[in-house]
Amino acid sequence: MKDLVVMKFGGTSVGSAERMRAAARLASEERKKRPVAVVVSAMSKITDLLLGAMRHAEAGDQAGIEANLAALRARHEEACRDLLPESRQAAVMAEVHKLVAEFERIVRGMAMLGERPPRSVDEAVAVGERLSALLVSEYLASEGTPAAAINAWDVIVTDAVFGNASPLMDPTREKARAILLPLLEEGALPVITGFNGATADGRPTTLGRGGSDFSASILAAALDAAELWIWTDVDGIMSADPRLVPDAEVLDEITYAEAAELAYAGAKVLHPRTLAPLAERKIPVWSKNSFAPEKPGTKIVPTVATAHGTRAVASMGNVALVSLEPASPELNGVQVMGRALEAVARANVELLLVSSSSYRQNFCFLVRHEELERTLEALESALALELAHHYLHPIQVDRNVGLLTAVGEGMQGKPGLAGRIFTAISRVQVNIIAIAQGSSELTIAVVVRRDGLEKAVQAVHAESGLGHRPPVPVFTFPMPRRKE
Ligand code: ASP
Ligand code: MG
Repeated sequence: MKDLVVMKFGGTSVGSAERMRAAARLASEERKKRPVAVVVSAMSKITDLLLGAMRHAEAGDQAGIEANLAALRARHEEACRDLLPESRQAAVMAEVHKLVAEFERIVRGMAMLGERPPRSVDEAVAVGERLSALLVSEYLASEGTPAAAINAWDVIVTDAVFGNASPLMDPTREKARAILLPLLEEGALPVITGFNGATADGRPTTLGRGGSDFSASILAAALDAAELWIWTDVDGIMSADPRLVPDAEVLDEITYAEAAELAYAGAKVLHPRTLAPLAERKIPVWSKNSFAPEKPGTKIVPTVATAHGTRAVASMGNVALVSLEPASPELNGVQVMGRALEAVARANVELLLVSSSSYRQNFCFLVRHEELERTLEALESALALELAHHYLHPIQVDRNVGLLTAVGEGMQGKPGLAGRIFTAISRVQVNIIAIAQGSSELTIAVVVRRDGLEKAVQAVHAESGLGHRPPVPVFTFPMPRRKE
């Protein structure tokens, strides 16, 4: 649909009645100019609360279940009361209670089984988004904007990887058009749940944590939208994490590839898979702050005319380095690596970096702390024999590391850039443990000691001429002296 804007509001942007009002205002203002479809996250912290209730259920913790159910109910009752006019209160409150009861039924089932099957988790956790879609659409309607709450499991068709599903674009396109276009054409504003979908045969799925961004891009692509706006609680995509680098700046424009690399490298602002569905139709994306909508935000575009050098420095603290090393020369290191990688892939672990040395045939990779236990279990079972017979050294784990990633299209084919990054890090006396450069040459990733991460990020950020300081030419080595 020509002119259509898809707007996605994150958890904090619909985190209270007040924030829902602000979100609704942004959407309905835009709708005066062109058609708008809204995608919402659950209210902030609600997804954690729902997942927590299900963990309590599995563990048989009744008190825990009750506490989470009470908090879920209270938060949405309060929002409903503060948001809607007297005349709609009772009807919508009844809908809220119906959704909470749906969640409760599944959770009680899990408590009885002492188990939380991934498929049921996906069905239950989507209640968070269904609640916020209900409240936002009711508020829009009460303010005179015709709106309809839509459950994305009627629209987004996915594979059956529960908890981390991928969209099937052709059937999604068909459903999105059949269900959403008629609404948009008659001037209504659909409010669609983020995060969830369903398999072709109707089993509920979710797209992974933070997946509402991805939902919005799937829908923008399926509906041939003109633009996608992602509303969050920060001013846009930044040149570094401002908690680490006080002079980090909001980037005015970056490419899909840069934004995707930044998301994978730990910048929290976009779900990593968001940009893929948009590439074919080249739909531009705005990352904007719903708390300060007058600020320009960051525009994410397919390509830029002139690539800048390093555009941003992303970082991750909660990571662990896992190393494997054959103890016997008879063991084929490449085969060990292949089996190890297959095992972690099967455990659905995301590898943040892989690095190897061919001489000692050892190799290491980086995973998130939350995924470490799963990683080790997978490795220990896949390599049980080699470990038992000491063909492999015991698996080494270093939890005290951090990952720094410099990202920029302009880094491609620039000799000396890696050297400058490493020099900047060593100048602040931080030891480099492992490095990797993406073969796209869009990123240089460096693993450092955890306590040196902050200093290293600051050093690379400054060396790259980012932030509120005079630019330094980035691409020549050694650095020319500037004549001021
Ligand atoms: N509510 C989901 C989550 O917290 C999805 C999202 O907010 O994007 O992961
Ligand atoms: Mg998010």
